[in-house]
Amino acid sequence: MIKIRDMVFNYNKTELFSGINVDFTPGKIYGFLGKNGAGKTTLFKIICGLLRAKVGSCHVFGYTSSTRHPGMLANMFFIPESFYLPPVSIAAYEKLQAPFYERFDSVAFEQILNELELNKSRMLNNLSYGLKKRFLLAFGLATNCRILLLDEPTNGLDIPSKRAFRKLLASTVNDERTIVVATHQIKEIENIFDSLVFIDQGKILLNSSIENISKKLVFHTIPFLENLDEYLYSEEVPGGYSVISKNDSGSEGTIDIEFLFNAVTDYTEEIITLLEN
Ligand code: ADP
Repeated sequence: MIKIRDMVFNYNKTELFSGINVDFTPGKIYGFLGKNGAGKTTLFKIICGLLRAKVGSCHVFGYTSSTRHPGMLANMFFIPESFYLPPVSIAAYEKLQAPFYERFDSVAFEQILNELELNKSRMLNNLSYGLKKRFLLAFGLATNCRILLLDEPTNGLDIPSKRAFRKLLASTVNDERTIVVATHQIKEIENIFDSLVFIDQGKILLNSSIENISKKLVFHTIPFLENLDEYLYSEEVPGGYSVISKNDSGSEGTIDIEFLFNAVTDYTEEIITLLEN
């Protein structure tokens, strides 16, 4: 659905991506993780056709993304971290914007707005940042677009809204839909991801399903670090060491995504190779 090949991207003379290859496929919620400035927002803008890479390609539903083909735009929704909303009511916005999305579901929109405690008569420009974000999430989910790109979606949301958001997102995934969530607030939404993509220093370091990771790696905490060879990665934590080792048992355990991110962005080759094969 989203296919990026050998992409090099520069801002002026500074190279940000030095040959990126990544696919985002339907039926999944991706956690797209990278440090601040790694290029998550830039990649989203390239996928939407708002920015164009000089080298390599980005195809969405088979269209070159930079052509911003109507067939592509009608089926994707991007919620950026910073955005502008016009001075109109939610109802007026729906009337103006919904027709661009062929599968917009007004009934679902109403339901989601209710769940997020928003009323259609509210003026968009008078909403707080968090409420604007709630509105965009409701609208984005109601479009029924096949691609949903969310840039730091939980920023600015209060605790109940974060919970409601997690629930909503998990309930809207289906075989046709690709949801990509860029975030560095991993802990808040980690349990909704089925796949992880890590970006660092201009490269995609990892693109793996949670299932693959938990079949191959075990995460645990030990009081002392004795046989270093047994572990692929370790970090000192209060009361001992967090470690990652090979999963030889075949049973799937829980993944500590933040810890895995540290291991992979420390360029722990053995882990990367193990997950790729
Ligand atoms: P992320 O979303 O992962 O935090 P961004 O894609 O926003 O990263 O930014 C990646 C890098 O590109 C950062 O170093 C940022 O300063 C730089 N950058 C972003 N937008 C521009 C721009 N319009 N002009 C020049 N540099 C930019």
